Amino acid sequence: MTTTIRTRFAPSPTGFLHLGGTRTSLFSWAFARHHKGVFVLRIEDTDVERSTPEAVEAILQGMSWLGMHADEGPFYQMERTERHREAINELLEKGRAYYCYSTPEEIEEMREKARAAGLKPRYDGTWRPEEGKTLPAIPADRKPVIRFKTPTEGVTSWDDMVKGRISFANEELDDLIIARPDGTPTYNFCVVVDDWDMEITHVIRGDDHVNNTPRQILILEALGATVPQYGHVPMILGPDGEKLSKRHGAVNIMDYEADGYLPEAMLNYLARLGWSHGDDEIFSVEQFVEWFDTKNLSGSPSQWDPKKLNWVNAHYIKQRSSAELADMVAPRIEKLGGNPNAVNLTAVMDLLKDRAETLNALAKDAMLFCGSFSPADPELQAEVLTDEAKALLADFAQRLSVVSDWDTATIAAVIKDTLAANEVKMPKLGIPVRVAVTGQKQTPAVDAVLALIGKETVLERLHAL
Ligand code: GLU
Repeated sequence: MTTTIRTRFAPSPTGFLHLGGTRTSLFSWAFARHHKGVFVLRIEDTDVERSTPEAVEAILQGMSWLGMHADEGPFYQMERTERHREAINELLEKGRAYYCYSTPEEIEEMREKARAAGLKPRYDGTWRPEEGKTLPAIPADRKPVIRFKTPTEGVTSWDDMVKGRISFANEELDDLIIARPDGTPTYNFCVVVDDWDMEITHVIRGDDHVNNTPRQILILEALGATVPQYGHVPMILGPDGEKLSKRHGAVNIMDYEADGYLPEAMLNYLARLGWSHGDDEIFSVEQFVEWFDTKNLSGSPSQWDPKKLNWVNAHYIKQRSSAELADMVAPRIEKLGGNPNAVNLTAVMDLLKDRAETLNALAKDAMLFCGSFSPADPELQAEVLTDEAKALLADFAQRLSVVSDWDTATIAAVIKDTLAANEVKMPKLGIPVRVAVTGQKQTPAVDAVLALIGKETVLERLHAL
């Protein structure tokens, strides 16, 4: 019998969707897709203080932007509390969990004692039932926590899909609190029950969870559940080798959308960060899914490289049609105060897209055609628009005014004629034309720029000199 592969993304909605979470979820998603399995989205909102509906919305929005759709869910952990309590009762009945009436002060004392004796601070097992042991009298008016009865001997191990075999001595693991005094189940316990009920076969997550895994395995075993396979992905480091954080710029996936990155570029870049398929740097989402194998997940941390991300984004910008780019860039031009309808924006994209790293850079460059014209500053005018240059421009304007077509080829021919008739080389004409018509010294090819700006405006600006 073949089992369906089932993976999950289980974010805690306490902020936006960050890069690290996005990347591990991408691996879970690709693994499920590769095996024609099921990708589950579970919102772990049990931290009521810190969870917000806005954060849930941000997670859904980020996933949808990248085209990462869940086959099941979103399930909300808070809606499953009854089920979690039921599983706690099951453990109590089986004698695998127990009530603990120690107060926080008593626990602190136990820890102090252990520390003083040079031991690892831990719960001393006062309320842990053992054969032949008499437990203290239950104090009145005190609400107990419930602890998991961790085996004191043996080793808990698993073959991590990323890191290889990992083992923990059970005696190192404290008796974990699985329910608080008010009866609400704790984080590790909810994860376990949900992974079990949702029949998760493979858990791919950040390696900050490695220490939780032996506890989760032990609880799963105590419940008689099948233990999934685990893969712990190392974190992403910033360019300076420190853990990636806000300090390094945006960590919210949607900030990249705002900054003008394409979802396919982001997906390609993130997928390649910590996973490889030979030397392939550029691959489609279909290839990623087809090639994805946990064997090729790297066991060492990967480094965020903004330059490479820009390179990948530039690649995907070139791949998009100019019409699509025009649609994506238009609202960004408006944000800059420009009018995207002032020009044939698709033609502008044709001209600019080969050199742009982001949609925002495209919008900025397109302002040459969509923004209001501001003449070059007087210093630049004085430097470039000399009497000699003005005479040349007057001749050029005269020749332009009589052509019947207005396109790049026609303008290129007029430029050629003007250069020949005046016996000058291109820069002598090109720079003054740019300064006079656009107010800038550097622009894309002059003939194409003039064609896009339009005959009337070009002549107007040349005559105004
Ligand atoms: N909710 C946890 C987090 O956001 C992830 C739990 C898990 O993947 O097991 O860190």
